[in-house]
Amino acid sequence: MPDNAPDDRYDLVVVGSANADLVIGVERRPAPGETVLGSDLAVHPGGKGANQSLAAARLGARTALLARVGDDGHGRLLLETQRAAGVDTDGVLVGGAPTGVALITVDPSGDNSIVVSPGANGRLTPEDVRASAPLLAAARVVSVQLEIPLETLAETVRGRGPDTRLVLNPSPPAPLPDEVLAACDPLVVNEHEARFLLGEGAGAAPADWAHALLARGPRSVVITLGAEGALVADGRTGSLDHLVSPKVHAVDTTGAGDAFTAALAWRLGRGDGLRAAAAYAVRVGAAAVMARGAQESFPTPAEVDAL
Ligand code: ADP
Repeated sequence: MPDNAPDDRYDLVVVGSANADLVIGVERRPAPGETVLGSDLAVHPGGKGANQSLAAARLGARTALLARVGDDGHGRLLLETQRAAGVDTDGVLVGGAPTGVALITVDPSGDNSIVVSPGANGRLTPEDVRASAPLLAAARVVSVQLEIPLETLAETVRGRGPDTRLVLNPSPPAPLPDEVLAACDPLVVNEHEARFLLGEGAGAAPADWAHALLARGPRSVVITLGAEGALVADGRTGSLDHLVSPKVHAVDTTGAGDAFTAALAWRLGRGDGLRAAAAYAVRVGAAAVMARGAQESFPTPAEVDAL
């Protein structure tokens, strides 16, 4: 772990989940009580936290992950893939429950059914975060999602360094305490998450959502719009910018939001303004939809530059 000399800080520390995605292709997803035969099992490292740290490291970020995995083969797979990508895994705790798992069946049309067992992710506690205070203090940016307990997220928000910027992607969406919302700079949501947070009366247009979300307290808001790119609203300046995504042949959008958020957080950590960071992130998100899978699809800087 580095000391806190400015040049030694992490661009990004991700506090979040690490899962094994267990995927079986099926002709038809089973009805209740039914058994169907499927393809060979494929095991992929995933979870929104591990996805973000790996995406950022692949882009060249100095990145660390604070997470919890089980003392099992899935946990070792996650640790190995993170380390191979250059992520500092000293903050990954081991044991307490099996590694989180997503059981995924996917049919030929691409529709899927997913069961998630949070496992060790649910055992990442506020005490774990307090014990990792030096890691958080060494972060220029901390990025969090909602696949860990909300009290652990809240402790991360409170325990981050005084000049550490917080990026939150509230996924899967859940109601957020005011102290968490007020710390976000930015709050990053897709259309589904924006609608969830705003509920009835969300308004019709993404620009309305951006203003309504800003009114909830975050210093800035980024709304990702799939192939349409992203909307960036900065509460400090009142600016609202639509950043268009490059036109690409989309093969698989899994993990696009994680790649986007990781890239955004990293560029903010490197000192980019919000708009410039988001302009880079839409290109990273677009590059990530051009290949299958989540972590497998995250681009290198050369692949982003090629867009
Ligand atoms: P999520 O994966 O969370 O649902 P989005 O679908 O909004 O998030 O995608 C996140 C980002 O990935 C977008 O802002 C955009 O930059 C990129 N992206 C996603 N889908 C496409 C697409 N079909 N073409 C180009 N870029 C895309």
